[in-house]
Amino acid sequence: MLLDGKTALVTGASRGIGAEIAIGLAEQGADVAITDLASQSVDLAKVQAAIEAAGRTCYNHALDVTSKSSIEDVFAAVTETAGGIDILVNNAGILVPKRLEELDEATWDAHFDVNAKGILLCTNAVLPQMRARKQGRIINIASIAGRQGSPTQGHYAATKSTAITLTRVYAQEVGMDGITVNAICPGIILTEMGKENLGSQEEIDHWSNVAALKRLGDPKDVVGPVAFLGSDLSNFVTGQSINVCGGIYFH
Ligand code: NAP
Repeated sequence: MLLDGKTALVTGASRGIGAEIAIGLAEQGADVAITDLASQSVDLAKVQAAIEAAGRTCYNHALDVTSKSSIEDVFAAVTETAGGIDILVNNAGILVPKRLEELDEATWDAHFDVNAKGILLCTNAVLPQMRARKQGRIINIASIAGRQGSPTQGHYAATKSTAITLTRVYAQEVGMDGITVNAICPGIILTEMGKENLGSQEEIDHWSNVAALKRLGDPKDVVGPVAFLGSDLSNFVTGQSINVCGGIYFH
């Protein structure tokens, strides 16, 4: 299997894309630390059961990606128990659609805290042990929103552009220690977030028709590219952001 002997840590892993990534990495042979807000413990336990059913070890921790102390405690605990974190998937994210003119500062700050600063804090927490072991894979879940942006998503798109930029800069800052940093830019994936964002069946039908593959994404569609970026198959790929969008966006 692609990820035999590896340990991965996934943020925002209780549902949606993060849950499928966590289970998918386990199915490729990785032991997986699943983390999410404490309020998501019931869903997180279901993901744990799926990982254990795949025959892998699961570490289950409450983790808020905006809390530096929470991140440091959890990453230290997983590193000690598992012997190291080989793959970090920065997946946790929020989207509350609002037009920019109506956006309040608290909503702007909340999006940057989770979607951008969360990447910074989690990545900086995992890097010391990756640098010491001269290996590591960091995968940021950005968005095609970060390449273009659309009405009611300006603040969200700005955080995802930041994720793409952080990916490029981290790659250059840590590559000398054998660590790669890449991003996935999902298109419209039918999770809670994706459905809430689209709103109506009419919108789902419209965007399905726009997509080259004539459908929107399932969270499972994101798993293969993440497993590739977490594996030795992608040894010479770093600083890149890969669209996983069924052909809805081409740049
Ligand atoms: P989702 O179903 O809303 O799942 C996101 C998870 O992150 C939730 O469990 C959420 O918990 C958790 N989370 C929120 N704030 C957190 C925090 N401070 N610390 C830790 N976890 C936190 O969303 P999704 O669609 O799976 O999205 C996953 C990632 O893909 C996000 O980064 C998103 O921006 C990106 N993405 C999604 C789409 C799409 O169409 N769905 C497209 C492009 C990119 P709560 O439910 O308690 O908030």
